[in-house]
Amino acid sequence: MKKNKLLMLAILALLVVGFFVFDLGRFLTLDYLKSQQAAIDAQFRAHPLATAAIYFAAYVAVTGLSLPGAAIMTLAGGAVFGLGWGLVIVSFASSIGATIAFLASRFLFREAVQAKFGDKLAAINRGIERDGPFYLFTLRLVPVFPFFVINLAMGLTKLRTWTFYWVSQLGMLLGTAVYVNAGTQLARIDSLRGILSPGLLLSFALLGIFPLVAKKIVDVVKARRVYARWPRPASFDRNMVVIGAGSAGLVTAYIAAAVKAKVTLVEKHRMGGDCLNTGCVPSKALIRSAKFMSHVARAKEFGIAEASARLRFADVMERVAGVVKAIEPHDSVERYTALGVECLTGTAKILSPWAVEIRGEDGRAQTLTTKNIVIAAGARPFVPPIPGLEDVGYLTSDTLWSLRELPPRLVVLGGGPIGCELAQSFARLGARVTQVEMLPRIMIREDPEVSAMVMRRFREEGIDVLVGHKAKQFLREDGGKVLVAEHEGRDVRIPFDAVLVAVGRVANTQGYGLEELGVPVTKQRTVEVNEYMQTVYPNIYACGDVAGPYQFTHTAAHTAWYSAVNALFGRFRKFRADFSVIPWATFTEPEVARVGLNETEAKEKGVAYEVTTYGIDDLDRAIADGEAHGLVKVLTVPGKDRILGATVVGEHAGDLLAEYVLAMKHGIGLNKILGTIHVYPTLAEANKFAAGNWKRAQVTRGQTELLDALQAWGRGAGGLGAVLARLPGLASDKRRVQAAEPHAEHA
Ligand SMILES: Cc1cc2nc3c(=O)[nH]c(=O)nc-3n(C[C@H](O)[C@H](O)[C@H](O)COP(=O)(O)OP(=O)(O)OC[C@H]3O[C@@H](n4cnc5c(N)ncnc54)[C@H](O)[C@@H]3O)c2cc1C
Repeated sequence: MKKNKLLMLAILALLVVGFFVFDLGRFLTLDYLKSQQAAIDAQFRAHPLATAAIYFAAYVAVTGLSLPGAAIMTLAGGAVFGLGWGLVIVSFASSIGATIAFLASRFLFREAVQAKFGDKLAAINRGIERDGPFYLFTLRLVPVFPFFVINLAMGLTKLRTWTFYWVSQLGMLLGTAVYVNAGTQLARIDSLRGILSPGLLLSFALLGIFPLVAKKIVDVVKARRVYARWPRPASFDRNMVVIGAGSAGLVTAYIAAAVKAKVTLVEKHRMGGDCLNTGCVPSKALIRSAKFMSHVARAKEFGIAEASARLRFADVMERVAGVVKAIEPHDSVERYTALGVECLTGTAKILSPWAVEIRGEDGRAQTLTTKNIVIAAGARPFVPPIPGLEDVGYLTSDTLWSLRELPPRLVVLGGGPIGCELAQSFARLGARVTQVEMLPRIMIREDPEVSAMVMRRFREEGIDVLVGHKAKQFLREDGGKVLVAEHEGRDVRIPFDAVLVAVGRVANTQGYGLEELGVPVTKQRTVEVNEYMQTVYPNIYACGDVAGPYQFTHTAAHTAWYSAVNALFGRFRKFRADFSVIPWATFTEPEVARVGLNETEAKEKGVAYEVTTYGIDDLDRAIADGEAHGLVKVLTVPGKDRILGATVVGEHAGDLLAEYVLAMKHGIGLNKILGTIHVYPTLAEANKFAAGNWKRAQVTRGQTELLDALQAWGRGAGGLGAVLARLPGLASDKRRVQAAEPHAEHA
C-alpha cells in the first residue's frame, strides 16, 4: 500500500479506535439523548446556527467514519430542529457523510480489490454501469441493509461519485423523514426498533422494488416504441427465420429444429458460410500440406539422409477443395432438411420486425412472417483504401482458394492470425513471402515473447517479416508490382507478384434491412446486441461474426445458442451470454493457443497475477517428436491456484489448451491438474508440469525448514522441540523458495 494510503488508513483507524476507547458511543444512545434533550434545546435556542453547524459536522463525522449511532443522531435532528429543518439538515449531512465513506473506501481499497478480484468484479462493474443507480436506490430504500456497508461496498465499484451522492440522498429521504419525524416525539419512543413497524418495513421494501419494476416497464415501453411503426401480424408463418447458414446460422437453426420450432434458414451463397468454404476448413487443409513440405525440408533432423517432394500447387489446392467437399455434407441442405429445418436459397431482407423477404437467384421473392429473426450474416475481409490496391489487384481469404498457380513472390498484408497462418503456409509451399505489419510485432494480441517465438520461426523458415511497416501505396512498375511501405519515416519498396490482404474482418451489416429498421451498429461496426444477443428489437437477435465480440467458429456457435434459446424460450427464462472463458488458437507453427488473460491484458486491466511457465523444450514427448519448443504460461491469482488465463505455444497447443478451458470454466485450479494422471509420454503432460512449477513456487522457506526439522527428528538427528518451534511462523511466512527444475516432476 502506498504511503499516503497508509497514512490515511492510520488516521481513520485512530479515530475509530478513539471512539470506542473513550466510549463516545454512550453519547449516542436513546437514554442519553432523552436525558439531554432540555439542555440541547436550550443550547439551540441560544445559538441556533452554531448548534446546527456542530450537529451537521458531528453527523458527517459519524457517517463518514461509519460509526454506529446515525439513527440516534437522526432522532436528535428531529427532536432539536423539528421535522422541516431536521429533514433538510439530516438529509444533506447523511448524504455527505455517506459520500465521504464511499470515497474513503474507494481511495483505500478499490485498487487492491480490483487487482485481486478484477476478473470477478468485471460482471458486477458492468451491472453497476448499466443499472447502478437502480441498485443503489433499492438498497437505500430498504432499511434492512446497513447503510455503512452500502457506502463502503459501492466505493469498490466503478459507480460515479456524483451518481452515488444524489441517488443516496433521494433514496434515503423517506427513511430519514420517518426517523426525523419520530425524533419530534422523542419522549414517546422507547426503542429504535419501535420506529420501524413491520408494515412500514414492508412498504419500504415494496418501494425499493419499485425502481426495478419501473425499469422493466421502461424497457417494455421502449420496445413498444421501436415496434410502433410496424404492423404486427396476428399470427406468424414461422417461429424463427435465420439469415445466413454459416456456423452461427446453422447452430441456431439446429437448436430451433431440435425443440420443434418452425424454422427457416436462408443462405444466399454457400451453406457452411466462411468456416467451411473460405475460412477454417480450407486454411487448415492448406496448413496440412504445407506442414508436410516443412517435414520434408527437415528430413535430416529425423535421420533421413535425403528426401525430396515435387509439389504441384494446383494439386494442393485441389486437395483443399476436396477436404471442403468431404465436410460439406455436415452443413448441407439435405442434412438440415432432414433435421427439420426449412432451407431456402436466396437473399434475405428484413422488411419489418416480423417479416423477411427472400429473393431467389431467379429474382422471384417470397415474404415470410416470423415471431423471431436471427441475423447470422457473418463478416467479410476488410480491404483498406490504400492507393493503387484496386489497380494491382489483390487476394483475400474469400478469393484465395481459386488460385491454381503459386505466386512466386507473395506479399501478405497483416500480422494477425489469418495473415500468419497463410504467410507460413505459402512460404512452406515455395512462395517467397514478405509479411507486412504496421504494428511493432505480429500477433499483437498475444504476449510479446509469444509473438517473438512465432516471428523467430517465420524468419528461420525464410519469411521476410516486416513489422512497423505501414503499407502506403501500390504501384505498377516496369511490368511488375511494387508495394511502398513506410518504415521509421522512410519508404521501403517491396516488389511482388501477388498480394494477400488479411488486415481484419468487418461484419456484414448493410443491404438487408438493418438501415431501414434503424438497428444500430457498434463502434466496431458489428450489430449492437444486449447481453441476451437481442438487437434494439427484442425479437431480432444477432450472433456469430456479425455480432462479435469474437470472430471464431466456436464463439459463433456459442452466441447462436443464446440467440436460439432466448428467442424461443425467453418468455420463460432468458440467458445472458457468458464470455468469461473464451479460448482460441492460431494454427501457425509454433501453434499458439490462449484462454482468459495473458500478461499484457492482466497489466492493462490492473489484475494482480502470478505467472508460471513451463518450457516445452524440456518435455520428453516433444523431444522425441523433434518438436521441443514452445511454452505453457499460466496466470493465477496470487497465492491461489485459481487460473486467470493460459497461453500454450507449441505442437498441438490448441488441443493442450482444452484442459485449461475446462479448468477455468468449472473452477478447477492448478492443484487439481497436478493431481490428475496424464499419460506418459504425451504433450499434455506439459500442463501437469506447469502446475508442478506453480506448486513448487508456492513453497515457503518456513515449510522447507519445518520439513527438514521433521525428517531430522525422524532420523533421531533432531528433537521434537525444533519441529514445534517452526510451527508458529508458518502461516505468515511469505519467503518463497526458488522453483526447482521442472523436469524433476516426473522423475
Ligand atoms: C482464413 C480464415 C481462417 C479461419 N480460421 C478459423 C479457425 O481456425 N477457427 C475458428 O474458430 N475460426 C476461424 N475463422 C473464423 C470463422 O470462419 C468465422 O468466425 C465463422 O465462419 C463465423 O461464422 P458466422 O456464421 O458468424 O458467419 P459466416 O460463416 O460468414 O456465415 C454468414 C453467412 O451468411 C450469409 N448471408 C449474409 N447475408 C445474407 C443475406 N442477406 N441473406 C442470406 N444469407 C446471407 C453469407 O453468405 C454467409 O454464408 C477463420 C476465418 C478465416 C477467414
